[in-house]
Amino acid sequence: MGTAVVMEDVCYSYAGRTCGVCYRACPLPGKAMKLGLYETPIVNPEHCVGCGLCEQACVHMPQAIRVIPASQLAQEEVHG
Ligand code: SF4
Ligand code: SF4
Repeated sequence: MGTAVVMEDVCYSYAGRTCGVCYRACPLPGKAMKLGLYETPIVNPEHCVGCGLCEQACVHMPQAIRVIPASQLAQEEVHG
């Protein structure tokens, strides 16, 4: 499994265009994902189960939120 990661420079909400569609697709709203100003998605890696529903629901092409496999996340931590 993995964890959802938001590409903030691509996401509509982070650009001030209220979206939040991914949040409404998340089966653990308020836990795996919270909303900030303009409905910016904020993922909590502790609770995200990596189901990918947010990625499927994202209205931006290419998706502004993606599930990154745990192995890849660990690598990025090591290599910065
Ligand atoms: S991967 Fe699933 S649990 Fe994690 S934030 Fe996306 S929809 Fe929610
Ligand atoms: S659905 Fe996509 S563009 Fe909309 S808030 Fe979520 S990540 Fe951003």
